[in-house]
Amino acid sequence: MATLAITDGRVLLPDATVTRADVLIDQDAGEILEVGNDLAGAGDETLDAANALVTPGFVNGHCHVAMTLLRGYADDKTLDAWLQEDIWPAEAELTPEDVHVGAELGLLEMIKSGTTAFADMYFEVPEIADAVETAGLRARLGHGVVTVAADDEAAREDAQTSIDVARDLDGMADGRISTAFMPHSLTTVGEEYLDEFVPKAREAGVPIHYHANETADEVAPIMEEHGMRPLAYAAEKGMLESEDFVAHGVHVDESEISLLAEAGTSVIHCPASNMKLASGMAPVQRMLDAGVSVGLGTDGAASNNDLSLLDEARDAAMIGKLAAEDASAVSAESVSALLTHATADAIGIDTGRLEAGAPADLAVVDLEKPHLTPAHDLVSHLAYAIAAADVRHTICDGQVLMRDREVTTLDEDAVRERAHEHATALIDRAEA
Ligand SMILES: [Zn+2]
Repeated sequence: MATLAITDGRVLLPDATVTRADVLIDQDAGEILEVGNDLAGAGDETLDAANALVTPGFVNGHCHVAMTLLRGYADDKTLDAWLQEDIWPAEAELTPEDVHVGAELGLLEMIKSGTTAFADMYFEVPEIADAVETAGLRARLGHGVVTVAADDEAAREDAQTSIDVARDLDGMADGRISTAFMPHSLTTVGEEYLDEFVPKAREAGVPIHYHANETADEVAPIMEEHGMRPLAYAAEKGMLESEDFVAHGVHVDESEISLLAEAGTSVIHCPASNMKLASGMAPVQRMLDAGVSVGLGTDGAASNNDLSLLDEARDAAMIGKLAAEDASAVSAESVSALLTHATADAIGIDTGRLEAGAPADLAVVDLEKPHLTPAHDLVSHLAYAIAAADVRHTICDGQVLMRDREVTTLDEDAVRERAHEHATALIDRAEA
């Protein structure tokens, strides 16, 4: 058994308290053996965490990781105009290799900001899975289905691809990869395809993940066509089970909040994307108070424009207070849960808790920074002050993915260079 000791750190425990302790890891099993004192001698290898906060690795509940190639390509537009005029035409030109390169860039950014697990909806998913396997993170991956503007044959093929991807890739990378069926949203996938393919997802035993209630413009057509709120429609289509999770949940009314709480379906809050596209303010504290399972996600880099969960945490706290008109809403303690175990639970990945027997997924954050001085309350720092560049080491499944800011599983310069080349060529093709 190879062991790793993370020594002398201040450790964030699942109950949101912080204690001085060492953490001992079984690297072969990818598991935390012990959180305690005087464990430094027990490790074959040690990682210094003096003057650092040791937290569970951060969990990104909703992403389109390969969209890093479109970062900064189109900004300052409404969701509808942004998708139709810029994003979809560019995505139509994406090759499998582009997706691979974009995914590597996103994964590099995640490792450098302490993220160790994420949920992702995109195309060419085997390319993303391959990049995840190399990079060393955990992920729940799926193929996004869009049937509007497709003929029946193409629409059915797209939906079947999502089922096939979910079946074929589940359990890949020694179990670090899991999957879901991912219809893009309730307005971009036709009812007949939901009727046909949702039961197939249940047969395959995979959860369902989709965008829901993101903008007011997305709610109105469902009310008109089906005479009910979007999440009532989702429940009728069998898409509101306890393992399912929806992205956004901005425009939800009280009846939908009750439905979510009763069903146990999780909502992934994406505050930066919601602010940037002026989609609205999700009622996060109201959902938490009602007992809804809430997680946190960055959405794609084109609507954020970075993949740092730490930025997202601060955004969630700020906009949560504004939405509730209450400075005590979405507290630092709530945000520390959103960064870790709450989002892990929402997307059904076993991680996010720093305790014996848990998966060894951790981030070690340097506290010797002007903006982190003094250190009255490290949970407050996690929510409001720590930034991506403060992460010193990142560990997933017992493996050190970044040591002293140096990523071990990807060649940072090569990944950036390839991403630059592929992004430039992609936009040349899209605008030709
Ligand atoms: Zn999204």
